Order: sequence, then structure tokens, then C-alpha cells
Amino acid sequence: MQFQIECNSLKNNQMCLICEQLFQAREARLIVCSEKGDGYGDVCPECIGRGAHWIKTQLQQFSSKFSA
Ligand SMILES: [Zn+2]
Repeated sequence: MQFQIECNSLKNNQMCLICEQLFQAREARLIVCSEKGDGYGDVCPECIGRGAHWIKTQLQQFSSKFSA
């Protein structure tokens, strides 16, 4: 489980992996991905604003689901 920052060219609505809100993707996206680089999903600016430590805590509940 790691984070990846990507530049976004599309102005799509994305669903936040953590709070499941739809949000408009900004120029810089924060994407959660596996060690192999498979993307799981985006994190919204609101959740990003809570800090990396908080995000990691939230994602711990996802990791068992993804690695199953
Ligand atoms: Zn969110």
C-alpha cells in the first residue's frame, strides 16, 4: 500500500476511496496503489487535508480486503 501523486488531465468526478464522496479531480491527484503499482482509487482533497498519517490509518481497513 503506497501513495502516488499523478498529474490529472481529465476533469472527471472521482469517488474518494476513504469517505466515498464524489469530488472533482484537481490537477494533482493522490492515488492509493499497491506495491506493484496497481491503482486502487483516488483520495479527495478533504481527506488529503487530514494528513498522510490519518489516511494511512483509514486505509488499514482496506488493505485486508485488497490483499485477499
Ligand atoms: Zn475523502
